[in-house]
Amino acid sequence: MLLGIDLGGTNIKAGICDARGRVLASDSIPTEAHRGPADTLRRMAELGRRLAGRRRIGACGVGVPGPLDLARTRIYVAPNLEGWKDVRVPAVLRRLLGVPVVMENDANCAAVGESRAWPPCDGFALYTLGTGVGGGIVLNGELWVGASGAAGELGHMTVDPHGPRCGCGRCGCLEAFASATAVARAAGRPAHEAFRSRDPKSRAAVARAAWALGAGIANLIHVFHPDLVVLAGGMARAGRAILDPVRAEVRRRVFAVQLAKIRIELSRLGDDAGWTGAALWAARKHRPH
Ligand SMILES: [Zn+2]
Repeated sequence: MLLGIDLGGTNIKAGICDARGRVLASDSIPTEAHRGPADTLRRMAELGRRLAGRRRIGACGVGVPGPLDLARTRIYVAPNLEGWKDVRVPAVLRRLLGVPVVMENDANCAAVGESRAWPPCDGFALYTLGTGVGGGIVLNGELWVGASGAAGELGHMTVDPHGPRCGCGRCGCLEAFASATAVARAAGRPAHEAFRSRDPKSRAAVARAAWALGAGIANLIHVFHPDLVVLAGGMARAGRAILDPVRAEVRRRVFAVQLAKIRIELSRLGDDAGWTGAALWAARKHRPH
């Protein structure tokens, strides 16, 4: 049995699954990051123990926001976790839980979890469309983290070099057009309302987000051509209202021969992708290859 934990800025989601990702129990609690890392980590461990009950846990995976060191031993700084600096999450949780703990970036965990919910493919990419835009790449079943460990930041791909400033401080990132925050700002109303609205500002905001996502996905296709690209996160709940214009934009930007071999779909796992992916990744890291 595996324990997975998804540490978000607002909520901590956790659950128990087996080695195939079948969910046996899950729950969530508020993060309350302002109470400090020690308190939050203690409550994370309590939640894990409560969910495990009498089941024997082989490994724990934890997904956390923000860039990580290559060795995955600490969170340097996380913008959504106020006051968290240089926190050794795996070491603390290992002490509290008494099991091996593997830490990974939250969007990478979601990519691992979501990729296992689909038929096996060689190349897989995930976009998490929320307050920001996260990303993850899985190649031949392995998470692709690149030379520094921070690859797969699909939200910070430049889609317009002269575009608006992104939360990361750079200009023209996909996130600056296609996050729920960007859509809401351009539409003048919450993103989920913008997708349903017929007013011109909302329609323009949605079209702009779809244009940016379509361009980003087309770039991935030209670089490494994933078989499957999945849209997840709060904004994926817009369903066809996001999926259809993104697909149309990709069609305009790739070659016909490429178009025949690309699937763009909506998340199957929703909120469960992050913690199940963390759990499955922990199992992978603790099994001899
Ligand atoms: Zn950025």
